[in-house]
Amino acid sequence: MTTQTLPERDRIEAMVRQAIRRLHAADGVIAGVSTPTVASAPAISPPGWVGGKPNLRVSISARHCHLTDEHVEILFGAGTKLIPEKDLYQDGFYAAEQTVMVVGPRRRMLPNVRVLGPTRGASQVELAFTDSISLGIDAPVRHSGKIEGTPGCVLVGPAGTVQLTQGVIRAARHVHMNDHDARHYGVQDGDLMQLVIRSPQCSVTFEDLLVRADKVAKLEVHIDTDEGNACNLDSATEVLLRKQIDAACACKQH
Ligand SMILES: [Zn+2]
Repeated sequence: MTTQTLPERDRIEAMVRQAIRRLHAADGVIAGVSTPTVASAPAISPPGWVGGKPNLRVSISARHCHLTDEHVEILFGAGTKLIPEKDLYQDGFYAAEQTVMVVGPRRRMLPNVRVLGPTRGASQVELAFTDSISLGIDAPVRHSGKIEGTPGCVLVGPAGTVQLTQGVIRAARHVHMNDHDARHYGVQDGDLMQLVIRSPQCSVTFEDLLVRADKVAKLEVHIDTDEGNACNLDSATEVLLRKQIDAACACKQH
């Protein structure tokens, strides 16, 4: 019995020592993020930060639509809810399993346009210029939600169709961030920023990125497929975000 018990005890002690080492290692990481010299200071870890700094992510939003609860039921059947298929980087947002067909004038259409959730108070279709040209709709550049006076379209789902009287836009480039990111860059919600993308033979500087700051967003630029293709984002070697020395976005004055 003794010969069996001792190795067993050794093994458990080794496991405990290992677990304690891991705990201490984790402490070290957290202390590094906040104030290393003051052990009791609360760790600052804003959403999306890595290693104590904002972690810039640039994402391409392919054409998609947002729907109201009512339109989900018309398009996909009474009682139907959106089914999350893939979580987006921003917490709580997802690409749904469901897609719709977007139909423009003269029966031109885009099949399989992804629905993003959660549902919203107004339905909206976000296209790149190239999409809107192939659809035959002159989509204006608008910030999400500002759809007054924009063109409409027809949405077709497996259970029904919806005629949108407005809501087709090319979403204006923008950057989501939390208050800590905003402080880091010296900007506020509604300000404009520049995004420099260095990419072999097709570097681009985007101007007029609208800052959308709140408490919980993670730092993320949203550009559309035309913009992403223009700078060959997949091959980018460097991305840089900086404050634009300019007046605040005109949309704030409305
Ligand atoms: Zn966005």
